[in-house]
Parts: sequence; structure tokens; C-alpha cells
Amino acid sequence: MDTNVSTIVVLGAGQAGAWAARTLRQEGFKGRLVLIGDEAHPPYERPPLSKGILAGEAQAESLHILDSAALAELSVEWLGNTRAVEIDRRGSRVVLADGRVIPYEKLIICTGGRARALMVPGSDLPGVHLLRTIDDTVRLAPVLRPGARVAVIGGGWIGLEVAATARKLGAAVTVLETAQRLCERSVPEALSAYLLELHAAHGVEVRLGAAVTSFSSDDAGGLDVVLSDGQAIRSDVAVVGIGLIPNDELARTAGLECDGGVLVDAQCRTSDPHIFAAGDVAVARNSWAGRRLRLESWQNAQEQGIAAAKSALGQHLEYDPLPWFWSDQYGTNLQIYGIPMPAHQMVMRGNPAAGSFVCFYLEGDRLIAALGSNAARDLRFAKRLIERRTQVRGEDLANPEVALAKL
Ligand code: FAD
Ligand code: NAP
Repeated sequence: MDTNVSTIVVLGAGQAGAWAARTLRQEGFKGRLVLIGDEAHPPYERPPLSKGILAGEAQAESLHILDSAALAELSVEWLGNTRAVEIDRRGSRVVLADGRVIPYEKLIICTGGRARALMVPGSDLPGVHLLRTIDDTVRLAPVLRPGARVAVIGGGWIGLEVAATARKLGAAVTVLETAQRLCERSVPEALSAYLLELHAAHGVEVRLGAAVTSFSSDDAGGLDVVLSDGQAIRSDVAVVGIGLIPNDELARTAGLECDGGVLVDAQCRTSDPHIFAAGDVAVARNSWAGRRLRLESWQNAQEQGIAAAKSALGQHLEYDPLPWFWSDQYGTNLQIYGIPMPAHQMVMRGNPAAGSFVCFYLEGDRLIAALGSNAARDLRFAKRLIERRTQVRGEDLANPEVALAKL
């Protein structure tokens, strides 16, 4: 460990930032540790915001990764409600919106991303919601009442999870997606088709190829969501989930190399050797995907936050995770390991109609990726087969009589 470092600043107090801070202390860092975040809440996990918290089944406090007591115990100077406005690399300091400056020897950027807004007339009406923070969920939850008409714009992860939660709460839901299939960018066709059926079976109206051109309020306090063909969807509330914008502006202005996020190497180092980055904001080469990408996931926020902290302390590592995503919708657990691509051969085990299946994606005799629904055990074995680069045969994977553990 580099014992000479006296001050480390973690910029962004979300999941990656919290794990970076915790890891720095766990790995023996004794110097000044400052964690800067512009939210009022101590660092927390976001996945339940569209699931259990939105459904009213859990309290926001259950999301905290480090509460005030834990931050004090770790001697982390947590600056909540505090926005950083500049990374001054020449002066090795972070400038805050209130004028304070925080010097650093090492800086870890964990600024994540923000929800993309739909830039159409009326998107600032009070009935139009985005969902990224605890505060967003607190605003949205009370309006997802039984019988409420909910228009969900975007058939991605946020959109589908909000749709499932809103149905659970008894609301009537219409999902409007511009693409011709759900989650088009992140999942293969087989899973898009399954998701479409799953939501239809739970009474959600999904409209594909639907472009929203404006929102307008009606006299009865409702909201019209107007589509490009002129149709208006009468709603009480609209939830926009159309993707994430990485918060890389400070890094870009500071001259760090960026390309749709802050570029980092396998040591989580940016183009400045004293500055590291992790989580939704970081772009890194991933050998499992065969390209550079930003992993917008719980797994990556935690593991890359940990890796960046170790790297800042001078430990050598090669961060190159097998990507893993999950989603819970209507009691269905969906998981994806690796990055399935159209060029891969796909074989299926199980039966989507019965609710439990796994799709395996092969390149020759190697398993590259796997996804499935309500098949956590099989997917755990699939993960091992992918990571160990085990030789497999498609017919064995597809045959439920062949135990994956034996492969
Ligand atoms: P963030 O959590 O975005 O944290 C960054 C923090 O930095 C924020 O608090 C931000 O306000 C702050 N910040 C930014 N700029 C500044 C600045 N200039 N000054 C001070 N502070 C700043 N992933 C899964 O794998 N599975 C799931 O089921 C899942 N569900 C999700 C559900 C929801 C509703 C959402 C929103 C996300 C979900 N995710 C899920 C994704 C996962 O939560 C994110 O990948 C993860 O939160 C990324 O963590 P992060 O620390 O990189 O960024
Ligand atoms: P997302 O997964 O990128 O999905 C956004 C969807 O909206 C895409 O299908 C996109 O289609 C579509 N879209 C874009 N512009 C649109 C428009 N004008 N009208 C209608 N649809 C439009 O992003 P998200 O669902 O907003 O989620 C935001 C972040 O939260 C992401 O980082 C995501 O990973 C994370 N999250 C993850 C989970 C999970 O892993 N379970 C759950 C919730 C949230 P195109 O692809 O064609 O643009």
C-alpha cells in the first residue's frame, strides 16, 4: 500500500463512492478521507427504488450503504447536500459550489449518471416524473394508487420495473416505447419477446414504435401524453425512463479523457494517474464484451468502487468483471451474465411459457453469455462455465436431463 498518501477525495456519494470509501479504510488507509455528494441522504443503493420502496414494502433507510454512524466510525468526512463544480487538476483540489476547496492527493470520481429527460413540450408538468433518487421515489409513490392511469415512457429497465410495481398497486399501465422491442439495446430478442408477454399477461398495454411528442394537462387535473400520430393517452401520471446520462462534465472540463463517460484502464485509472473513476460514470474495456463500455449495474458500482480504492492505494489489480444484471418484475427474477450478441448461437433450456428458462449464448464450444427467468441455480452454474471457459455442447445445455453441475 502507498502509505504516503495523506488525503483521498471520493467525488460522488452513491454506491460506487460508498464502496470506495469503505474499502479505503478496510485496506488500512489512515489519512483524510472526504466523500462529497450532492444528495441529502447518506450513500444508498438504488435497485429497490423501482421495486420494494416504490411499492411501499420497505423504508428508504433500508437502502443506506453507510449511515451517519458508519461514516463517523470510518472517519469519513461526508459532505452531503454538497455539489462539486470543478476538478482543478493543476491545484489538485476539488472546488465546491459553496466556494470551499478540498485538496486531494488521489481523487476517485464516482459521479454516476442522471436520468435523461424527454425534451418535449410539457415535460416540466407536475405529473411527469423521472426516477433516479430516493426523493424521486418519494414523489412518485403516492400517485401510483389503485385505478390511477400511468403512462410509462421507455420500455427499458426503469420503465418495466415501474410498470410491474404500478400494476401490483392496482394502477392501469400503458408502456410507450419508440423501438420495435423492449429493452432493445440491452437484451436479445428472445428476452424482449418474453418481457412483452410477461407484461401483457399482467394487464399492461405495451405500445412499440410509439414516440411521445408532448404532454399537456387537461381541465380535470389529468395529463395527456401525445404521440407522433396525434393520439393522446389520457393519464394521471407519466414516468419517463429513457436512459442515463453519465455525469462526466467535471472530468471533461478538467481535460480527462472521456468518451461517453470517463475513460479508465483495468486499474480504474483515468488519463491522470492521480485520478480514478468507478461505477456508472466510468468507461472501461471489458474482455467479456470485447469492447469498451459503461456498465450501468449494481454489481459494477460495488466491485469497481472497491477496485478503484485498492488501486488508489497502489495495489495492482486487473478489473474485468463478467457483467451481471438482474431485474425483478411480478415475482419473476431475470438475470443476465455476460453480453449476449446476435452472432452467438442460442440454445434454450426450459420453457418460457412455464415461466422458467435459460438461454445460453455460444461461440463455437464456449459459453459466452446466459440469461434466464426464475432459474437462479442454473444461471450460477452457467456463470462458472463462462468464467472457466469450459468446453460445452449446445445439446447438453438445452437438455434439462443433463445437470449443469456435471458439465
Ligand atoms: P450513482 O448511484 O448515480 O451515484 C452517484 C452520486 O454522485 C449521486 O448521488 C449523484 O447525485 C452524485 N453526484 C454526481 N455529480 C456530483 C457532483 N458534481 N457533486 C456532488 N455529487 C455528485 N442495477 C442492477 O444491477 N440491478 C437492478 O435491479 C437495478 N435497479 C435499479 C433501479 C433504479 C430505480 C435505478 C435508478 C438504478 C438501478 N440499477 C440497478 C442501477 C444501479 O443502481 C446503478 O448502476 C448504481 O447506482 C450506480 O452507482 P454509482 O455510484 O456509479 O452512481
Ligand atoms: P435503459 O435501460 O437504457 O432504457 C431506456 C429505454 O427507453 C430504452 O428502451 C430506449 O430505447 C427507450 N427510449 C429512449 N428514448 C425514448 C423515447 N423518446 N420514448 C420512448 N422510449 C425511449 O434506461 P432506463 O430504463 O431509463 O434506466 C436508467 C438507468 O437505471 C440505467 O442505468 C439502468 O441500467 C438502470 N436501471 C437498472 C435496472 C436493472 O438493472 N434491473 C432497473 C432499473 C434501472 P433505445 O434503446 O432505442 O434508446
